[in-house]
Amino acid sequence: MALEASIDRRNHAQSATTNGAVVLPPASYRLRLNPSSEHKPDSYDDLHQLEFTPLLFSSLERYLPPTMLSMSRDVKFQYMRDILMKYSRDGERTRVQRHKEYRQRIISNYQPLHRELFTMHAPSVLVPAFVKAVRDNTEASFRSIMAEPIPGIYTFEMLQPRFCEMLLSEVENFERWVHDTRFRIMRPNTMNKFGAVLDDFGLEAMLDKLMNDFIRPISKVFFPEVGGSTLDSHHGFVVEYGMDRDVELGFHVDDSEVTLNVCLGREFSGGELFFRGVRCDKHVNTETQSEEILDYSHVPGYAVLHRGRHRHGARATTSGSRVNLLVWCRSSVFRELKKYQKECSSWCAECQREKKERQCISIAATKQELLKRIGNTSS
Ligand SMILES: [Zn+2]
Repeated sequence: MALEASIDRRNHAQSATTNGAVVLPPASYRLRLNPSSEHKPDSYDDLHQLEFTPLLFSSLERYLPPTMLSMSRDVKFQYMRDILMKYSRDGERTRVQRHKEYRQRIISNYQPLHRELFTMHAPSVLVPAFVKAVRDNTEASFRSIMAEPIPGIYTFEMLQPRFCEMLLSEVENFERWVHDTRFRIMRPNTMNKFGAVLDDFGLEAMLDKLMNDFIRPISKVFFPEVGGSTLDSHHGFVVEYGMDRDVELGFHVDDSEVTLNVCLGREFSGGELFFRGVRCDKHVNTETQSEEILDYSHVPGYAVLHRGRHRHGARATTSGSRVNLLVWCRSSVFRELKKYQKECSSWCAECQREKKERQCISIAATKQELLKRIGNTSS
């Protein structure tokens, strides 16, 4: 069965009928730089509009100009939506729409192997200690099950062995279906030629729940400065490494605010993750400091949680095969607010180093000036 011919025709028809007009809101549409801490935002959960998640509106509401805060929910919603639409270009919306259709085509044709994988039943997915630590929801409870080998990298046991096995066989089943139907799938990212996007074959809701109920509470505590408390979308996929798969992964940063990376297993040697410090766009290619070096060996069922901007790569998997689950968690609030940011980043090690250097220079200059003055008065 070849699905792609009919798919291509449908895509073509779609693009031909797309209305290309974009109405931009007036330039005066503004948000404030600092959120109103006392304002209690409305809930937008019941609004089933398509483009943005309800959480984005609740989070953005605190940034509305003071005069807007007392307006009706509809007025606020319209105002925020206009701002968001201004940034989401027509081409971007067409792309999103096409991807939705692509996903729908897979989901309506693919027969899952393990139906139970598609709902998030915490005790079947997660080890009990992890569930308890997140339910207790304190920094101490998180730390009690985690190691932090260098600042900003958290490792912990997370997934049940049975869940790992089921997910591995589901991915194999999906790959077989792709092969048999000759369905042209999109690979997880520009760097991995092997692997599959879990969100594309029905696991989106399950991974969303995993992010909302488990990753966000932890990120709120450990990564607040990169939108850890407002994670509201994700990209979930598996990558496969081995001799007949991708062998290694070059040095890079993720398109995420927070990344969860869990080894699902199989037998392998090599494949260590190496980390080399957190950097902003401007400093992404700067030198690594010795205290930023970490090499981490994967253990099946164990997770690594880190900022997306923490530079990293994977060494060659020298024998066997290794499959990892990746969840790139994103915050539309963080991304929106970054556009307004002029100063250096609090989370970039190089920005902070430069800032310190500037402070030292200015202190030294003040000292010199004072000494000069003292010298002048005493002579
Ligand atoms: Zn920087």
